[in-house]
Amino acid sequence: MAVRDINGASPIIELEQVNKWYGQFHVLTDINLQVRQGEKIVICGPSGSGKSTLIRCINRLEEHQEGTIAVRVDGKRIELTNDVKNVEAIRKEVGMVFQSFNLFPHLTILDNLTLAPIWVKKLPKKEAEDVAMSLLRRVRIPEQAQKYPGQLSGGQQQRVAIARALCMRPQIMLFDEPTSALDPEMVKEVLDVMIELANEGMTMLVVTHEMGFARSVADRVIFMDRGEIVEQGPPKEFFANPRNERTRTFLSQIL
Ligand code: ADP
Ligand code: MG
Repeated sequence: MAVRDINGASPIIELEQVNKWYGQFHVLTDINLQVRQGEKIVICGPSGSGKSTLIRCINRLEEHQEGTIAVRVDGKRIELTNDVKNVEAIRKEVGMVFQSFNLFPHLTILDNLTLAPIWVKKLPKKEAEDVAMSLLRRVRIPEQAQKYPGQLSGGQQQRVAIARALCMRPQIMLFDEPTSALDPEMVKEVLDVMIELANEGMTMLVVTHEMGFARSVADRVIFMDRGEIVEQGPPKEFFANPRNERTRTFLSQIL
């Protein structure tokens, strides 16, 4: 039974009975997940539980072998198949931010931001630069535009990575432990940008162990263990009354 938006729309992301193996290793088992437009989901769970694999499957950085993954693009439900057109259509809607920033070290910040809009979206250079500068202002580092990634702090680089993803005007943002590689004093500046994005109504899937962020931003917290979604719920319930033993053990270790 499909979850519907308040306005009756079908889910923006839908995973049905998704299974994935790396060779013999069953990394994702019977994953069912429906995400409403504008929903913020935090995914947590032990290292190796399949969190990265799960979100990487949504933009086809990894391929699943069984089940269905579909994303709503311009009101149309598009399934991830081997059809390159479908993959491209979905990738345009899905921005991704990694733990390790993944900026191009030999390009300036501005060029990092305009590369995809110019080459993939065929935006004129001036227009791409205007968009890039407005996003750099939004993540509060417009003065860094002409520098190279190596000249920026980790927190600044991660904010550039977020701005770079936003340059493609995605409807959905995936974050894979965006603050895990940062020195503690830089975590907040990145979380603040993510909170702003959430408040603007972005659909977000965030793998993180920042439970403060989960409590204040998430509509739903999902706990994964050994390739399965073990438990999920609104943060209040999830943290106050974890039902599963594995969730309780995990939370007792990180809180
Ligand atoms: P998490 O993000 O929760 O730490 P991952 O999705 O990265 O977990 O990994 C889940 C499991 O799959 C781990 O046991 C990991 O070693 C394994 N794995 C991840 N990527 C690959 C790969 N490319 N080939 C084989 N095994 C992999
Ligand atoms: Mg991971």
